[in-house]
Amino acid sequence: MRLDNRYATFAWAGAKVTPSPLRDPQLLLLNSELAEQLGIHLSQTQWRDLVSGHWLAPEMSPFAQVYAGHQFGGFSPQLGDGRAMLLGEVIAPNNQRWDLHLKGAGKTPFSRFGDGRAVLRSSLREYLASEALHHLGIPTTRALALVGSNEPVYREQTESGAGLLRAAPSHLRFGHFEYFYYQKQPEHIPTLLDYLIDTQWPELTKDATGYAALFARVVEKTAELIAKWQLVGFCHGVLNTDNMSMLGLTLDYGPYGFLDAYDPDHICNHSDSGGRYAYDQQPAVGLWNLQRLAQALSGVIALESLQAALSHYEQQLMGAYSAGMRHKLGLVSWQAGDPELFRDMFTLMAAQKVDYTNWFRQLAQLTVKGEMPAQLLALLSEPAAGVAWLTRYQQRLAEENIEHQVKVAQMNSVNPKYILRNHLAQQAIEKAEQGDMAEADRLLMVLARPFAEQPEYEAYAQSAPSWARDLTISCSS
Ligand code: AMP
Ligand code: MG
Repeated sequence: MRLDNRYATFAWAGAKVTPSPLRDPQLLLLNSELAEQLGIHLSQTQWRDLVSGHWLAPEMSPFAQVYAGHQFGGFSPQLGDGRAMLLGEVIAPNNQRWDLHLKGAGKTPFSRFGDGRAVLRSSLREYLASEALHHLGIPTTRALALVGSNEPVYREQTESGAGLLRAAPSHLRFGHFEYFYYQKQPEHIPTLLDYLIDTQWPELTKDATGYAALFARVVEKTAELIAKWQLVGFCHGVLNTDNMSMLGLTLDYGPYGFLDAYDPDHICNHSDSGGRYAYDQQPAVGLWNLQRLAQALSGVIALESLQAALSHYEQQLMGAYSAGMRHKLGLVSWQAGDPELFRDMFTLMAAQKVDYTNWFRQLAQLTVKGEMPAQLLALLSEPAAGVAWLTRYQQRLAEENIEHQVKVAQMNSVNPKYILRNHLAQQAIEKAEQGDMAEADRLLMVLARPFAEQPEYEAYAQSAPSWARDLTISCSS
């Protein structure tokens, strides 16, 4: 593997660290396809030893990054990699740069009161979700390998420690810039911006103009990311500025969740009693977070440029969202009554607690004339009210002038059949905790083709069984 550890040369941006080995490690998952893409060729033993902190490739230079962040609205001046470390920056065969980031590798100077560890439950949740989002076409950090261990880790109960090796073009967060701004070390901000430009966006100039363009990009990528989350029904759960990626990637999976029944107020993080990060709050929170980033960059980018970029956010997000929603509904032309049609659909879905994913998938089967598919009607708790809306939708579809089968194919290419439902993750975790990875392997395989029909895995497309409806996910990880 080819490494170029530029970030670790910024002594002021963190600390050199050493992973603390996990006891009796076992390699549980390896993403061979991604390893190949990154040009990393290791034996199974080397993977196990790397991800459990027993071995480092000679070119690696582990480094914990310092950052700050607004957490639930309040500013925390010093966070940082408290249980993760950058092992190095890999230059892939296609010359793309990838951070190798090891989570659960033990204490660092930024651990505060934490133990520096990650448990199997949350590490597997992150592995599953990041791969699921990737295959749904949503920008995200990736999972490269997972190890389990016999190391006891104390959360609400005793769990076992794990290591997750993840990869992303960069792990720079809004919080990195907030840290240096509030520490009154503004000289480091251009250095980090230059780093981002050199490594990700070399077409930008390293001056005020380039920095303004960079911020505009961050705004746009954030808007696009959140539009994609909303379209697929993904709820991040902890949208603090330290979990916001400068590249617009989904970052730091905690108590995330996909919508089962459509509920705009859905809160996936049971510690978020106020619903600050509820599903329908995510677009507004994205803007609030970007405003915090703008503040941190205000010393190097003109206020007008920051404001101009921020002023486009809503339109960028709504533009991406409404285009995406039209695709989900198989509509190409634009008709005057569409906003009401969409609004009434969401009212219906919320009132009848319709399964969000299965609704769009089944809607594709509806023809302009003729009987309504039983599987579609079965998603409604009061079919009569639903049929009224479906009849309007049929009339609207009739104006599209598209062949039914063509429409089905188009809709199925944007409406996944398989998402990472909470209960599926839970089942894979319970098996993994008993030492059986077969369920996690199967789930990853199903989620790698979310838009395909996989008749042998029909059960994975079912809405949550009643035992799972009340599964709440805590922040503890
Ligand atoms: P998170 O909620 O995982 O995004 O983490 C928020 C902050 O707490 C980050 O600075 C983490 O590095 C730190 N942190 C979370 N869990 C631990 C832990 N077990 N040990 C040390 N630091 C942690
Ligand atoms: Mg975090």
